[in-house]
Amino acid sequence: MKTTNFSTWLEDMQLSHPLVIAGPCSAETEEQVLKIAHQLKDTDATVFRAGIWKPRTRPGNFEGNGAKALPWIAKVKEETGMLTTVEVANAQHAKLALEFDIDIIWIGARTTVNPFAIQEIADALKGTDKIVLVKNPINPDLDLWIGAIERFHTAGIKNLGAIHRGFSSYKKSKYRNNPEWQIPIDLKEQYPTLPLICDPSHICGEREGLFDVSQTALDLKFDGLMIETHFDPDNAWSDAKQQITPARLSQITDQLKVRKDRVEEKDSIERLNELRDEINILDKRLVDLLTDRMEVVEKIGQVKKEKNVAILQRTRWQDIIKKVVDMGEENGLSKDFIERIFKSIHQESIEHQERIVNSKD
Ligand code: PEP
Ligand code: MN
Repeated sequence: MKTTNFSTWLEDMQLSHPLVIAGPCSAETEEQVLKIAHQLKDTDATVFRAGIWKPRTRPGNFEGNGAKALPWIAKVKEETGMLTTVEVANAQHAKLALEFDIDIIWIGARTTVNPFAIQEIADALKGTDKIVLVKNPINPDLDLWIGAIERFHTAGIKNLGAIHRGFSSYKKSKYRNNPEWQIPIDLKEQYPTLPLICDPSHICGEREGLFDVSQTALDLKFDGLMIETHFDPDNAWSDAKQQITPARLSQITDQLKVRKDRVEEKDSIERLNELRDEINILDKRLVDLLTDRMEVVEKIGQVKKEKNVAILQRTRWQDIIKKVVDMGEENGLSKDFIERIFKSIHQESIEHQERIVNSKD
């Protein structure tokens, strides 16, 4: 896919701030939809969102009003002038969204995982000039995300964008969906002109972290935010814990800092360049150290081969990880960070030793 083909729909909006998409998780009633939209009219939100087909993890929860809610969303545009967006999960939803002149169609995380569903929706939307935003798949798989974007692009949809809503993980963490920031950064690296929007609501799963995640997204040069908003969050019919009021949304957007692309002052540029030189030297030392470590690891591999002992020595590994975690914590490095780095080093070490132990000579 050629990145140059992405349209400039977002720049064409000529906003003076990152794009804000806001509105309830679910369209509950016509009154609820319109009340929230009117409260959002005076915020930074340009686009009104509401889920009308709700993909719920477990049955028995509110699954949305379906097509019945489409006229309510159309009314939002009529009464407030906001652009509108809904989630579609199949070709039928997509056709209905076009029929009701919804401006932006978003693809949910549970749909992005399924290339058949994506192809069906792309075919239904073929050639549309509506904007299509593709949420990342639930699992941390960049190719699956890119694959879905490619399918829409191939169907002649030029007004595309991506939404980062975090990734599901079996491991408990403070997030509902781990941000795994490197994945959207890699996406941006591959498609620099593709607008990238962050959905802190589904990353956090609660109200607490919304500001911090939003600020991180802006610091990473995301182009916009999608934030779930309700006039009575506690009593929302879905995702009650993570929704905020339009007033709170305004507080957040007022406090968020949009950083400049680069430093412009001469002194600061020089200072930054010096620090970057230092980083380059340190990075070289890190790579040299890792190379030295691997050489020692290979020598150990040689001994293990001669004595025919197993590569993984559990107690030794537990000993190493404990020592480095303690050392790291003393220096203000998190346990999680040190564990990730050393698990990765350990993996590479095992691969090196495998080669030696299993070599013929
Ligand atoms: C939503 O935006 O309400 C939603 C269902 O999101 P996701 O697809 O990211 O889970
Ligand atoms: Mn939701």
